[in-house]
Amino acid sequence: MRKPILIANWKMNGSLQSNQALMVRLLPRLRLFRKTMDLAVCPPFPYLFQVRDLLGYTGIMLGAQNVSSYVSGAYTGEVSATMLQEMGCRYVLVGHSERRALYGETSQDVAAKFRSVLGLGLIPVLCVGETLEERENNQTRTVIEQQIQAVIDEVGLASLARGVVAYEPVWAIGTGKTATPEQVSLVHQDIRQFVARCAPEASGDISQELRVIYGGSVKPGNAFELFSLPDVDGGLIGGASLHADDFGTIAGALAEASGVLTGECKVE
Ligand code: PEP
Repeated sequence: MRKPILIANWKMNGSLQSNQALMVRLLPRLRLFRKTMDLAVCPPFPYLFQVRDLLGYTGIMLGAQNVSSYVSGAYTGEVSATMLQEMGCRYVLVGHSERRALYGETSQDVAAKFRSVLGLGLIPVLCVGETLEERENNQTRTVIEQQIQAVIDEVGLASLARGVVAYEPVWAIGTGKTATPEQVSLVHQDIRQFVARCAPEASGDISQELRVIYGGSVKPGNAFELFSLPDVDGGLIGGASLHADDFGTIAGALAEASGVLTGECKVE
């Protein structure tokens, strides 16, 4: 069974004071769900220490939004996977579309980051997704397959499945435009089928183990419908994760959609 997972991506938002206020409101709202799903909060680097302390022993994990593919050395401004591990991070986002678009990260760079995160025993969250132009040119599947293939080339298929794949259509991130359930369903199915096709026959069905989550303007009002889709294992939440009530409601929607509260899980 694939355990549902919900990740908060705070992006470059927050302050010591506002983080404290957010966490104080958020933690009681997540208490009910922490045993039945994986929950993680990814603050900006300078606040990792603060958020780690606030998370304490709640079982909610700490995550980072980015990582260097290098171990150490003369890489000004970079942060290594070892440092993130030392800070208590469990999850690390790699290849978020804002990193790819604004900082020129290529799929090969992202694959190298995926490797460095896995190498430390942390869980990489590989973000993939198409731009609006690519969707309109019917390139969605090709683009996403190339983004995943780069990671398979770097670490192999079995290692891909040790991470999480987040499908985030670029045109839906932070725009208020959510992909329709049909669009999400198709891409998630495509991802699983692609992984299944990549697997050698003897290796078992890795595609059924891989957690594939959705991100892109998930809000309390659309979360349940999206999370009810059979191939959607959770969400990566940007804007709405900055509001304790919204993120708590989204966690509740994931719990309900995946049947974890009643024990009727949607995935066998
Ligand atoms: C994100 O940053 O990964 C994201 C999905 O953002 P938003 O929820 O704001 O669209």
